[in-house]
Amino acid sequence: MYSQDVLEDLRSQSDIVEVLSQYMTLHQKGANHMGLCPFHREKTPSFSVSAPRQLFHCFGCGESGNVISFIMKIENMPFLDAIKFLADRIGFRLPELTGRGASITTTEEKNRIYEAYQHAARFYYNNLISEEGKPCGEYLDHRKIDYGIRRKFGLGYATKGGLTEFLIDKGFDEAFLIKNGFSLEGSRGIYDRFRNRLMFPIIDVQNKFIGFGGRIIGEGEPKYLNSPETPVFDKSRTLYGLNFARLTKKRTFILVEGYMDVIALYQVGIKSVVAALGTAFTAHHARILKRYCDHVIILFDSDEAGTKAVIRAIPHLYAAGLGIKVCHLEDAKDPDEFLQVFGKDALSDELMAAVDFIDFQIKAVRKDRNLDDTAQRISFIKEAAVIISRLKSPVERESYARDMAAKYAMGEDSLKEEVAAILGNTGNDFIAVDFSRANLNFTPAQSKAFSDAAFDILVTMSADSNFCSKVTEYLTGEEFLDETLTLVFNIITQARQAGKELCGADIVTMFENDEEQMKKVAKIFVNPKEVADISTKKVAIAQQVYIVKETFLQHKIHIATKNGDNEMIMKLGTERKGLKINPFTV
Ligand SMILES: [Zn+2]
Repeated sequence: MYSQDVLEDLRSQSDIVEVLSQYMTLHQKGANHMGLCPFHREKTPSFSVSAPRQLFHCFGCGESGNVISFIMKIENMPFLDAIKFLADRIGFRLPELTGRGASITTTEEKNRIYEAYQHAARFYYNNLISEEGKPCGEYLDHRKIDYGIRRKFGLGYATKGGLTEFLIDKGFDEAFLIKNGFSLEGSRGIYDRFRNRLMFPIIDVQNKFIGFGGRIIGEGEPKYLNSPETPVFDKSRTLYGLNFARLTKKRTFILVEGYMDVIALYQVGIKSVVAALGTAFTAHHARILKRYCDHVIILFDSDEAGTKAVIRAIPHLYAAGLGIKVCHLEDAKDPDEFLQVFGKDALSDELMAAVDFIDFQIKAVRKDRNLDDTAQRISFIKEAAVIISRLKSPVERESYARDMAAKYAMGEDSLKEEVAAILGNTGNDFIAVDFSRANLNFTPAQSKAFSDAAFDILVTMSADSNFCSKVTEYLTGEEFLDETLTLVFNIITQARQAGKELCGADIVTMFENDEEQMKKVAKIFVNPKEVADISTKKVAIAQQVYIVKETFLQHKIHIATKNGDNEMIMKLGTERKGLKINPFTV
């Protein structure tokens, strides 16, 4: 990884207005620049760029960040590539990488990997159409995959060997082939990683070959084998079929489980279809999908494992802001088989009839329960309440509680009460806090004052060293009730102790591993409230410290109450009474 100093240098030499202007038209408006957001569709500009702070924020879709996260997002690049991209742009000399990031990746090295994968794909394709490829061709005939589709998806056949020698002839060395997933090393030298397999090339959205999935032909284990991750292939961020699906410009995508499902649907003209690659569906996958569509219909295998996989994928899709439906097929184990038996029209009908994701989850817990039995009915209502309580907005929870109560003959009031109990909203004086990492928008009442206070404190700490040391006498960081805010607190305090000043745009860079966190951190610093007079501001901030501490104690008291820990309740109560509304002056 590059040192923080290098990253700060590069970032400060890459002016955000200048860089972003190459992607969009920006108009100056006061201290800020405004433009049409490149990340969501809009007619009036809500995308704001702050030159003084070197951050951007979209009031429409909530996207925020610094110049590095902008490049990551718009160019669809991982962090190190975005750094390289910005450095190339201004002729900035990056030092040689050491440590963790050392093996990754000059653009040159990456291009070599792309090139090798492209050669390999051609090699496998030629095998398939040759005499040798007969067994694999027969398998595809049997699966009714026509020739046009085989070519379109670049399907191939790995015979008993030959790729290693072929690539060595092309000038790649053994170490490269082993490291990048083409070959394995055994006692008798190196040999092909994939043997006797139908090969599915994995192609990224820039139409580059980045890996393979291989299905065994005939007997053997494992049934599916994938390329390992390399500097160009990250499974948790790659979706099979996305290179084609994105071209449809459809706003609804179908999410399936396997390579064959993608191909089978594509062949019958349902082209906005993608699959995660032999790994669980991740939050990254969901966020990538959100760039290309608004709604997802999950169409997984109909067995129990498939249902479980659906339920695991839902929270990620929901957190990414996608509309979600679930299509559950009866009488076939997977979509490919369903198509073979019932045909395209039947599948289209099923997709049209896909059920809402909350309904799907409730139906899944309803299954196998006898609702005439009181205990089973109660546990059903409780589980339904858990599902509904995960919804972000009160309006959503309210309307789902109503609809699901009617549909499944539960008492609407008791369902709503269960939901409220789960959310901890039992009394009027309690201020509910959502502690999930992804959520900075704490729930209604408390939220605004609390998060405003927390943000203000962090912004002022980063700007003023006196204030920073004062705050650390009162707060430890955990009071922010949010992992990311606590981290930012620690980063600022440590930098200050080392006599260093950090600006918001640089703190954002430190969260390179997690796009979502980067965005959250940018939000803290992007639009601090302007207060004309610094002494007024300091008084105001001292009061913010009080608000944060107060809320934190309230929350602790709530937990202690739930646990029936009377001693703790007393202790916290005393501490809370002793809080001063204006704890210090700077
Ligand atoms: Zn936007």
